[in-house]
Amino acid sequence: MTRKLEGKIVIATHNPGKLREMRELLAPYGIEATSAGELGLPEPEETGADFAANALIKARAAAKGAGLPALADDSGLCVEALGGAPGVYSARWAGETKDFAAAMARIAQEVEKSGSPSRRAHFVSALAVAWPDGAEEIFEGKVFGDLAFPTRGNRGFGYDPCFTPDGHARTFGEMSAEEKHGIPADGSEALSHRARAFQMLARALLTPSPRS
Ligand code: IMP
Repeated sequence: MTRKLEGKIVIATHNPGKLREMRELLAPYGIEATSAGELGLPEPEETGADFAANALIKARAAAKGAGLPALADDSGLCVEALGGAPGVYSARWAGETKDFAAAMARIAQEVEKSGSPSRRAHFVSALAVAWPDGAEEIFEGKVFGDLAFPTRGNRGFGYDPCFTPDGHARTFGEMSAEEKHGIPADGSEALSHRARAFQMLARALLTPSPRS
C-alpha cells in the first residue's frame, strides 16, 4: 500500500508564485509546509531531460536537505510551433532577472519567425514526492490551449498572460487563483496543469483533514 503524505513537509521551490499555489492546494489536508527557499537549501541543477526527471531531482535534494518528505513541481510551457520549447527551459528563458515579459516576447517573435500557423501550446506540471528514505512518487498534469498575443492580464505569474486554456476566453493572467488552480468540490477536473497533477497526487497520497 502506498504510504500517505502527512504532518510536516518541505516544498522544494524557491519560486514564491509556485509556493503560494502549493500552499493553497495543501491547505485542506492539514499539512504544515515549509519551503526549500525558507530553509535556505541550495537549488539543485535541473539537468533532467523532461519535467518528471527535474521534479525528482528537486524533491530528492529537498528531502535529503530537510530530512522531511518533499514535494517538488517542475513545470513549463510547451509551444507546438517551437517543437515544444521553451519546455523544461521555461524558467531559463526568463533569465537571471526572471523577466517573463521578455520571455513571452521571445515566444511571440520565434513563433512568427517559424512560419507555422499553429498557435497551440500546453502547460505541463510534474509533481514529485520524495521521502528521506528514498521512496518516491510522480504525477503529471497538462492543460492545452492557445497562445495569446498581445498578452493579457496581470494576475498569476510567469507565462500566465500569454495562454488561454481551451474552453475559456480569458488568459490565465486574467483569472483568479481560484479559477486557475482551485480544486472543484464535485470531483470534476481542475483547470491548471498543476492543479490537475495535484488532484492525482491527492487521490493517491493525501487524507482530507477533519478540520477542513
Ligand atoms: P521550473 O519548474 O521552476 O523549472 O520553472 C518553470 C517555469 O515555467 C516557471 O518559472 C514559470 O515561468 C513557468 N510556469 C510554470 N507553471 C506556470 C503557470 O502556472 N503559469 C505561468 N507560468 C508557469
